[in-house]
Amino acid sequence: MARIIDGKELAARTRIQIRAEVAAFVASHGRAPGLEVVLVGDDPASVVYTRNKEKAALEVGIRGVLHRLPADTTEPALLELLRRLNDDPAVDGILVQLPLPKTIDASRVIDATSPAKDVDGFHPVNAGLLAVGREALVPCTPRGCMALLDDHLASVGAPTDLAGKHAVVVGRSNIVGKPMAQLLLARSATVTIAHSRTKELPALCREADILVAAVGRAELVRGDWLKPGAVVLDVGINRRADGSLCGDVDTESAERIASAITPVPGGVGPMTIAMLLSNTVRAARARLETR
Ligand code: NAD
Repeated sequence: MARIIDGKELAARTRIQIRAEVAAFVASHGRAPGLEVVLVGDDPASVVYTRNKEKAALEVGIRGVLHRLPADTTEPALLELLRRLNDDPAVDGILVQLPLPKTIDASRVIDATSPAKDVDGFHPVNAGLLAVGREALVPCTPRGCMALLDDHLASVGAPTDLAGKHAVVVGRSNIVGKPMAQLLLARSATVTIAHSRTKELPALCREADILVAAVGRAELVRGDWLKPGAVVLDVGINRRADGSLCGDVDTESAERIASAITPVPGGVGPMTIAMLLSNTVRAARARLETR
């Protein structure tokens, strides 16, 4: 049976480390790092996500502020708020929760966020820096996946160098799939990106030593799609017909073939929030300590 990679436990350890980094930052700069989370509208999932982000920030000593704007907020009004936050020296991280109402162009909002404060790592400048292998603010979910993978490899005594390993990333979104592939490539894995137009997906997945599923289709990846001994990172968050949560991987059949797998819930999700806190501290330090 596969080893279950416990994201809650690693996230708790990571938060302890971040709390210490925040305390050191306060000692040096006389203020806490500041994270501003912006929510437009009242999409129920987004309300929960943004509250959790604010709460997690406050718990490690980050000054978290949640801006709740009405659903009819105009694009110019949102861009004006971003300009104000970009210019505010006490603000280190800015996150605008997606999805935005249809009346607002998400690309313009991403472009209007200062790359130095873009703790989601979605700005094209950060995506470009990641692609050319330079220091960047990296999207939280793929960063969390890499931390889970590294922690797993260390715990089983496997080398963290991924040279010679084939990683298949299913999903090509800017938020998860593409940056995930970049991170694996930077670690010398041989990377294939699969997506909705990929043919023979099960056969391709069967070649993967590391399989990342970031699709948004409940339990799409089944045990017989896996190479025996594969490490599986399940990014998906889906609801079954009965309302229960599940990932993009059918855990029951996958557990019998994989060597390790992240559960849903309790795998990648908790690490995403931990990496947001880490990115906020990184952004604060980069602005204040590398002048
Ligand atoms: P997205 O919808 O932007 O992208 C999904 C990708 O999957 C696309 O590239 C598409 O081509 C591909 N795809 C769709 N159907 C496919 C199929 N049948 N076969 C192969 N590929 C297919 O989604 P996203 O934002 O990348 O998120 C993916 C999943 O991860 C969602 O379930 C989302 O809720 C979840 N997610 C979880 C976290 C977390 O913290 N755990 C964070 C972000 C996203």
